[in-house]
Amino acid sequence: MTSIWPQLEPILPKVARPARYIGLEDGSVQPHHDPRKVSWLLLYPDTYEIGLPNQGLQILYEILNERDDALAERSYAPWVDLEAELRSRGLPLFSVDTHRPAGEFDLLAFNLSAELVYTNVLNCIDLAGVPVRAAARRPEHPLVLAGGHCTYNPEPLADFLDAVVLGDGEEVVAEITEVVRDWKASGRTDGSREGVLRALARVPGVYVPSLYDVAYDGPRLVAVTPRFADVPDRVEKRTIADLADWPYPRRQLVPLTEVVHDRLNVEVFRGCTRGCRFCQAGMITRPVRERPAEQVRTMVAEGLRRTGYDEVALTSLSTADFSGIEEVVRAVVDDPVNGQQTSVSLPSLRVDAFTVGIAAQLQRARRTGLTFAPEAGTWRMRQVINKLIREQDLYDAVDAAFSQGWRRMKLYFLTGLPTETDEDTLGIAELGRNCVEIGRRHTRSASVTLSVGGFVPKPFTPFQWFGQNTVPELHRKVGLLRDDLRRHRSVQLKWHDPKATLVEGLTSRGDRRLGPVIEDVWRQAGTFQEWSERFRLDLWLDALARAGLDPDWYVHRHRTEDEVLPWDHLSAGLHKDFLWQDWRDALDEVGLEDCRWTPCYDCGACTGYSIEHIVASATPPAGGSQGTGQDLAAESSTPVQLLARPPQARPAQAGAR
Ligand code: SF4
Repeated sequence: MTSIWPQLEPILPKVARPARYIGLEDGSVQPHHDPRKVSWLLLYPDTYEIGLPNQGLQILYEILNERDDALAERSYAPWVDLEAELRSRGLPLFSVDTHRPAGEFDLLAFNLSAELVYTNVLNCIDLAGVPVRAAARRPEHPLVLAGGHCTYNPEPLADFLDAVVLGDGEEVVAEITEVVRDWKASGRTDGSREGVLRALARVPGVYVPSLYDVAYDGPRLVAVTPRFADVPDRVEKRTIADLADWPYPRRQLVPLTEVVHDRLNVEVFRGCTRGCRFCQAGMITRPVRERPAEQVRTMVAEGLRRTGYDEVALTSLSTADFSGIEEVVRAVVDDPVNGQQTSVSLPSLRVDAFTVGIAAQLQRARRTGLTFAPEAGTWRMRQVINKLIREQDLYDAVDAAFSQGWRRMKLYFLTGLPTETDEDTLGIAELGRNCVEIGRRHTRSASVTLSVGGFVPKPFTPFQWFGQNTVPELHRKVGLLRDDLRRHRSVQLKWHDPKATLVEGLTSRGDRRLGPVIEDVWRQAGTFQEWSERFRLDLWLDALARAGLDPDWYVHRHRTEDEVLPWDHLSAGLHKDFLWQDWRDALDEVGLEDCRWTPCYDCGACTGYSIEHIVASATPPAGGSQGTGQDLAAESSTPVQLLARPPQARPAQAGAR
């Protein structure tokens, strides 16, 4: 079967948002399949609207389709209505580009950016007609791979994935293609599957879970060791040295239907050295590698011209730290493309008047709102998490923003952080009230929204040893804020479901024993768990009970320094003793300044890869004092920092006051 379109087309009028499944976006390709080529199906295990803008997937889509020996198509998790239709007709999961059955591809490669999609991964594998457990697959089945931030602890999915890629994907997909090309050329004979997995395990950055033995002592993990001498003891992440070599996506996809982040996106740098201790994205993507400002300007101008978008986001983990920010901003403001003024989103800017000034230049037409991310309510707490923003920095930025015409402000916070007291929690409300007061000096309609998420400790961060707050404790803290803000109508409070936070904590630091739990939840129709209307905590608790596993042990327990962690045989380039020392510094309320402007702390990220920070400027940017004042995000964008906050924050929002 080459396309299921004839069977699919009559179904589409019966399901919601049929445009999710038709492809044909500007920038998409319908590649010619040839048995000599390695065919990749790149899957985003969430809906099309969430998955389409994913830049990692789009970058690999282009890079692979530029190769002579490979091709790539895309697929997204079908919503439950289409899934039911497919299953009732015996139809498989398909690519959106040529509607080819997923099981006919050589590789199914998942992008994992949130743990709550894990059951969707199993569902997609099953819908592809492929055994969900890797051990049951035969040579004719596709290889099932995963990449993305969650793969820094892939152990909960170890039973289901053939291989996992750590780090940047731009180079490693070529090496994987060559291994699979040779396997195909050899005829994919019986028994050859282990051979190709062994060959993949020798590719730097590729982890093959089935080639490792895991030993436990009671509940404790004792060791994860390779079963063969040619399989590495520890898998190091891949890091591309120079972003300038990878000006992708060159042809960003322009969807035919509404999606999140529906705008041109241009990545200005990768990595972050701010050192926020809760932020996994900042830790695992080090070192900082900047794209040359000239290349950014070219990508923005050409991208706007080609796509027709009137909005561009300059993406990174802290865009105001980009040394070329003023040059790029000036170019966009001074040189309208397509005869119109371009709106620029600046996710993750510093909290200071300088960046508000930039935002003001860029949002001349649309003063919709601004988003700041102080993350914690008191200076003490912000020292613990190393988010070194003084109250006055925030108030100055808020004052600058209201004085320049903004009326609404959104502030992001985490609760359940290490050492957090009720005073720290209530500090969130106080900051909100003070910001409204500042706004009222400029406008009677000033309002502030406080968005509060429950903190989930993540692997490869200094907080990986911390015992996560329980659901009742997170509920109590949200209750404190609700009570405190009851009489302040100009301060809106939104919070994220602590029950979903529990499951995210379970899967983010779990080990292989969680595999049967994830499979159990999936078999009970527990898909789309990141969507509040679909989330079912009871399914998870029942599955844990059936597996004889204790959620408290996995989620709420503090770890000790000598404990073997499920991801210790993987490496994000960070020295474990650096992370432990940073954890001790956190408990001592000691902040650590940005290492771009200080002597190196030897975290391992640069030295381990012989890569120095690639930045164009050797001095701190204007307005940004060392280690203070960061993270403001211009509205109309979800801050890139959300990579570090609970992904369920988006759909699984619990409530608002
Ligand atoms: S190795 Fe040094 S300079 Fe590089 S990210 Fe780590 S602390 Fe910063």
